[in-house]
Amino acid sequence: MTSQATPPDLSHLWMPFTANRQFKERPRLLARAKGMYYTSADDRQILDGTSGLWCVNAGHGRQEIIDAISKQTAEMDYAPSFQLGHEGSFHAATAVARLMPEGMDRIFFTNSGSESVDTALKIALAYHRARGEGQRTRLIGRERGYHGVGFGGISVGGISPNRKTFSGALLPHVDHLPHTHDLSKNANSRGQPAWGEHFADELENIIALHDASTIAAVIVEPLAGSTGVLVPPKGYLEKLRAITEKHGILLIFDEVITGFGRLGAPTASAFFGIRPDIITMAKGISNAAVPAGAVAVRREIHDAILGAAATGIEFFHGYTYSAHPLATAAVQATLGIYERDGLFERARGLSQAFEDAAHALESSRHVIDVRNLGLVAGIELASRDGAVGARAAEVFGKCFDQGVMVRYTGDTIAVSPPLIVEEEQIHHLFQTLGKVLDTVA
Ligand code: PLP
Repeated sequence: MTSQATPPDLSHLWMPFTANRQFKERPRLLARAKGMYYTSADDRQILDGTSGLWCVNAGHGRQEIIDAISKQTAEMDYAPSFQLGHEGSFHAATAVARLMPEGMDRIFFTNSGSESVDTALKIALAYHRARGEGQRTRLIGRERGYHGVGFGGISVGGISPNRKTFSGALLPHVDHLPHTHDLSKNANSRGQPAWGEHFADELENIIALHDASTIAAVIVEPLAGSTGVLVPPKGYLEKLRAITEKHGILLIFDEVITGFGRLGAPTASAFFGIRPDIITMAKGISNAAVPAGAVAVRREIHDAILGAAATGIEFFHGYTYSAHPLATAAVQATLGIYERDGLFERARGLSQAFEDAAHALESSRHVIDVRNLGLVAGIELASRDGAVGARAAEVFGKCFDQGVMVRYTGDTIAVSPPLIVEEEQIHHLFQTLGKVLDTVA
């Protein structure tokens, strides 16, 4: 059964982050989703090894979320969030705040990770300005970082294809830390690599160059996802925290992927036991049933920006769809499922089996590194001469044909299944990948 009677005309849609011409020559269309599986338009079952796009953490088609959204859309489809509110937005903010590290309980709603990142960067600038340190405008990101596609996000981000076309228009006053990946030292680390804490020392050099008084914030993904799963070396994030704190620089953790259970904890911050100043979120916050994102902020930061007196709008920022009623309904239902079903604990319980299954691929053809933490793994392949990404693209396509959905960036295959995954599905995922690797030149 196909999803619609008439096959679609593929020419009008300009697809995001897609090789449009190749896709349209050989489309891969998804039609339905339930639990751990997609159903393709040609009626094949596809095991979801990537939670959609790192976002469907509770699995597909959850009835509680469907009911919450349906009820909300009938009751009130939309409410403006500027100078007006609706109860669901406050309930949702309270539910998100409960999952954040202590004291990070002021929540700003957005619609995506990119919006969360730009919001967080603006909050950092507004905070310093409110404290009379408006000269702190410099932002520090990291090589290979992915922070979405807004101008703020690509400026602090470190993925060159995402930046080069727009390089003349990136934010000024941005610097980058080195990334933490060194295969010669850390190949096939299980969990956090033992070597590499010293990469954080480069922040002291950057501070020495620009002076701390010019720097507003450092933004990193605690575990870098989109660039191909880079796990932070032991001690590295702790050092970043210590250095930023010493110099009055805000530390932003971009938890768009790591938030809501990916590492077996509500946040990576909780998993690593580090409290940043600002956390960005999206994806798993609503199980991706409605686009949603959020920024959690330390209470002192929020209070500094609001100031002491009631003088009008304190922060000139927000979106038409900030705290959209459907989104906040989805957020509440999603967070309810995570709690009721104990999905973060479940992910933590599965992470050893997941690690073992991933590392069983160490000796597979083309594999040069396996990296993992929680329910995320990266399997890096040797690149073909002059064709970075071609091998992984072929593996991705063949896995899809075999009924398993993985992702790839460059020549790294990423696996990050919904937290409801069963152990035998984990084995099936990695075994299929292993078999496909044998068939690829
Ligand atoms: N930040 C991180 C760490 C991400 O992984 C992503 C998306 O993958 C984003 C930001 C951007 O999120 P969105 O695509 O929802 O704008």
